[in-house]
Amino acid sequence: MNVPPEATRQVEAPHGIEAITSYHAHIYYDPGTTRAVAERLRERVADTFRVQLGRWHDQPVGPHARAMFQIAFDTALFPTLVPWLMLNRDGLAVFVHPNTKRPRDDHLQHALWLGEILPLDGSRLPEAQEEPDGPVVPNTNPRDG
Ligand code: ZN
Repeated sequence: MNVPPEATRQVEAPHGIEAITSYHAHIYYDPGTTRAVAERLRERVADTFRVQLGRWHDQPVGPHARAMFQIAFDTALFPTLVPWLMLNRDGLAVFVHPNTKRPRDDHLQHALWLGEILPLDGSRLPEAQEEPDGPVVPNTNPRDG
């Protein structure tokens, strides 16, 4: 019987999801053409979800190849915020990654993309995080809570 090599390879134990302390969604835009779309999306997120909205980065920063802003959110929001972004991203590329104190894996191995997949500069991402992220501090006031 032919067994594919990957089936016989020694594998590590699966990662437990309790390693995920929070998530980021990065909303990419083009400052010259789609910033207004990103502004509208940001306002709608703020009206709907208790999340921590990051600053506007009209210039690429860190591993990110395009202008973007960040949404930091607790794990409990994943099953509502991510599907909401699927339906409401208005053509913008969205990058969602877990935070597990392994930034390189979090961004390059364990992330998901909505829409266009953009390059990431892995050299800007440490393998292990020295200082843990602080807790998500919501700075939005959603209308219904
Ligand atoms: Zn991030």
